[in-house]
Amino acid sequence: MELQNDSITTIMDFRNKLKKFVDDRNWNQYHSPKSLAIALNIEASELLEVFLFQPDDFIPKNLDSLTDEMADVFIYLMNLVNALKLDNFSEIIKQKIERNAIKYPIKEFSAKNYKKQ
Ligand SMILES: [Mg+2]
Repeated sequence: MELQNDSITTIMDFRNKLKKFVDDRNWNQYHSPKSLAIALNIEASELLEVFLFQPDDFIPKNLDSLTDEMADVFIYLMNLVNALKLDNFSEIIKQKIERNAIKYPIKEFSAKNYKKQ
């Protein structure tokens, strides 16, 4: 199955594609949750490297280096979801967003309400 655009590709589509990629190479033996969490953080650091020593408003003219690292982060996150056999990751994300909404109510945390101290 080929992955489609963002409107119709599901998390499970990505997970299945990546599971096959890993299974085909017999890499499950390397995909412990610990190793995947480490790899995820390494890729997040590679994402940061794109911005290293750049001004705060820096956006690369060519986004390829940025999007490549963003994809790596997502891929390792999905590999971690697969390794943990989480079949409710969408629900986990939804609940986390709901907790964040409670933790950061709009009235109190809207950027326009922040005062410089
Ligand atoms: Mg990378």
